[in-house]
Amino acid sequence: MKKRPYNFSAGPAALPEPVLQQAAEEMLDWHGSGMSVMEMSHRGKQFTRICDEAEADLRELLSIPDDYAALFMQGGGLGENAILPLNLIGRRGARAADFVVSGSWSAKSFKEAERYGDVRMAAGSQSCAVIDGCEQAPWTYMPDPATWNVRPEASFVHLCSNETIGGVEFMEWPDPASLGAPDTVLTVDASSHILSRPMDVTRAGVIYAGAQKNVGPAGVTLVIVRKDLLGHALPVCPSAFDYALVAANDSRFNTPPTYGIYIAGLVFKWLKQQGGVAGIEAVNRAKAELLYGYLDSTAFYRNPVHPSVRSRMNVPFLLHDESLNAEFLAQADAAGLLQLKGHKSVGGMRASIYNAMPLAGVQALVDFMKEFERRHG
Ligand code: PMP
Repeated sequence: MKKRPYNFSAGPAALPEPVLQQAAEEMLDWHGSGMSVMEMSHRGKQFTRICDEAEADLRELLSIPDDYAALFMQGGGLGENAILPLNLIGRRGARAADFVVSGSWSAKSFKEAERYGDVRMAAGSQSCAVIDGCEQAPWTYMPDPATWNVRPEASFVHLCSNETIGGVEFMEWPDPASLGAPDTVLTVDASSHILSRPMDVTRAGVIYAGAQKNVGPAGVTLVIVRKDLLGHALPVCPSAFDYALVAANDSRFNTPPTYGIYIAGLVFKWLKQQGGVAGIEAVNRAKAELLYGYLDSTAFYRNPVHPSVRSRMNVPFLLHDESLNAEFLAQADAAGLLQLKGHKSVGGMRASIYNAMPLAGVQALVDFMKEFERRHG
């Protein structure tokens, strides 16, 4: 087969090629069953095996303890912005929740949750700030947890640990007890960096992620939830989105996105072959160092994010001369470097370098950028 181009899409994003190949081979007849996975009953023995294995592999990869449920749901990241408050905000009498707003996605989470209770911003990076002597633009840094104002009566405090558009990644998840709110749980939107590095699941009450970046095709949402948080859904919560019902039925309360779960399962097996999340983290670190190292070495391009929270997964960058953007994108495309256009709210470029992007892909991008600079610098 012809070598495929490198795909830098922010999502739906590139999947590991061996996964796509295996799915193609198994398309018409999964393991001698005479059926495509798409054609199987979600309650039959074949799909039960696929789903149980996917869950077991996910648990192993993220070291998810037994007191957490790992669910395959639907609704995507934005769906979770409603599903999570519907499940959690009624857990405590105040029906309150606090949000750390550090970019487009956490801003959306905050806005959506306002429908369900008394919702406030605990901290935000919507204004300019000076951090470690660096002048930072809005959405290019993370508010220091020491400044978060979390109400002790809040059911949860929410953050987005990787802002896909701004390219801000935050791994210093604080224990809410250290924020003066010991009964408040941390909830995390980890859509765009889940499984890219080890994460201490036990820091959070809920972690969720849309699949279409590091997990599989769009349509599956991972929800990892501490079991003592189950059973508090508001009466208006649709039963198909009630974590307790989904957990009690092993993600098969209603028909789940079966094909997506199957592909996610193949991705989990591929990840285990890469040495799990620790193995892939080493590759992700090397990729990020290569790209940021180059960006920092030249005035031709620039990344605006504070170095302490630069995302290893989403790297936005601007050309010093914005009039070259269209030419950059057209030439990159012709060179087999696809979907580098930045989000419209940020402009410029964005290289999303999720788990499936090999180091060679980032090297090809850096080589192209250097050559482009040589011709236009
Ligand atoms: N959260 C984050 C961090 C995201 O990157 C995205 C999508 N790019 C979403 C939420 C929204 O996900 P969806 O489109 O699946 O609703």
